[in-house]
Amino acid sequence: MEVQLLEATDDPEELICSAARNDYMEDFVGDKSFEEVMTTVEGETIEEKKETLIGHLLKQGHFGPFEHPQITFAVKGISRSCMAQITRHRHASFDVRSMRYVSFDDVDPEDVAEGELVVTPPSATDPDWIGRNQEGGAVDDETVEKREAVFRESVKRSVEEYQELLDLGMPPEDARFVLPIGTEVNMVFSVNARMLMHIADLRAAADSQWEIRDMTERVLDLAKEWCPITFEYYEENMKNRKNRIAP
Ligand SMILES: Cc1cc2nc3c(=O)[nH]c(=O)nc-3n(C[C@H](O)[C@H](O)[C@H](O)COP(=O)(O)OP(=O)(O)OC[C@H]3O[C@@H](n4cnc5c(N)ncnc54)[C@H](O)[C@@H]3O)c2cc1C
Repeated sequence: MEVQLLEATDDPEELICSAARNDYMEDFVGDKSFEEVMTTVEGETIEEKKETLIGHLLKQGHFGPFEHPQITFAVKGISRSCMAQITRHRHASFDVRSMRYVSFDDVDPEDVAEGELVVTPPSATDPDWIGRNQEGGAVDDETVEKREAVFRESVKRSVEEYQELLDLGMPPEDARFVLPIGTEVNMVFSVNARMLMHIADLRAAADSQWEIRDMTERVLDLAKEWCPITFEYYEENMKNRKNRIAP
């Protein structure tokens, strides 16, 4: 999996603060410089003032201002299973690579067995991997070797049969029905800062599946560079709690 930042609002935290100050100012925020807008906020420097205000908003649960800044990520190589999970979030926007218009006719099934095109879950290769919904604990090496063999043979066969159906003239949109749910997909998704915290509440949590947790952690790392005061505060004070960002 790979996650890249594609586009994001410039000065997201200036925007959050301006929107929040609008709520409590008699003057019109549009007529003032950012320094003027922040005059009454506690702090020596403008950075300190932003920290004060953003910390206060997050602590008080005043989440509306965090809906203004928007960020867009490009995600490569997640399974369609992970895609189904993330796209359940209705306040994010998605574009997903089509399997109607993109066909995998030139992928070598032998390469699929080695990990191309279909995501290999860690439980297929790691004897010590404990999945959340797994009955029992770690398994012996022999068992995991069998698991891996079955998994690799299964995904290889699926792609062989998919390609055979294409050769028989079946359109890709129908031939894809035989491909596994682990088939990789590339996706672009956009989300505002509030929704990103809500997604992290649910998808970086311990009861979430390893793949969407991994994706969410990568997204959060990029969000911390983009909107540092907000996402550092989130990391330190809110992550892994029931924040009711979207009650
Ligand atoms: C660990 C885990 C396991 C899951 N297992 C399953 C499963 O087995 N089966 C399954 O179907 N789903 C499952 N889900 C998905 C889950 O039920 C939600 O659909 C998904 O997490 C989207 O989150 P959300 O409900 O907060 O909505 P979002 O779309 O993220 O919306 C954010 C918030 O907006 C509000 N909202 C949005 N739309 C509405 C609406 N129409 N009406 C009222 N309020 C709304 C709610 O407050 C909501 O929390 C699982 C999720 C997790 C994290």
